[in-house]
Amino acid sequence: MIDQDKVRQAVRLLLEGIGEDPDREGLAETPERIARMCEEIYGGLDETAEVHLRKTFEAEENEMVLEKDLVFYSTCEHHLLPFFGKAHIAYIPDGRVVGLSKLARTVEVFARRPQIQEQLTGQIADALMRFLQPRGAMVLIEAEHMCMTMRGIKKPGSRTVTMAKRGCFLEYPELEHTFFAMLGTGK
Ligand code: ZN
Repeated sequence: MIDQDKVRQAVRLLLEGIGEDPDREGLAETPERIARMCEEIYGGLDETAEVHLRKTFEAEENEMVLEKDLVFYSTCEHHLLPFFGKAHIAYIPDGRVVGLSKLARTVEVFARRPQIQEQLTGQIADALMRFLQPRGAMVLIEAEHMCMTMRGIKKPGSRTVTMAKRGCFLEYPELEHTFFAMLGTGK
């Protein structure tokens, strides 16, 4: 659970630490605002993907399902700066499918917490395998990291791409080709 009181104190201290006056008009309500905002951007810490993925439907088709261009916003755990982009999620059903919006919800659960992109990618794939139990799953994420663009090496527009494969996607490389072919359609 998010301890709003602690967050308020911490933000005040941070402002003092950088040489600001936390009592000046523009900053006076900032600790309160950030404490409330934390509920939203770190709320995934109190959630599990199970609630979204446990309700499944019987399916006759066991062909690949791909949900692409799921826009997400997350926070890099090394700098507490945003990283954001698109997640593409595919799975091969084993007789059961899940509502399409639930894939977007699953991304949210893992994005709304301090995170690194590599881990986010793997956690989504693992949650699918665990709760939906498909034959296989593949997740591709492309994202821009503010810690790469507004600080450090300052490379705006650079994107980081990560991939996670599970189950039959590891056994049959041709499934990966199908994934990329489906990802490329309609672009
Ligand atoms: Zn970072």
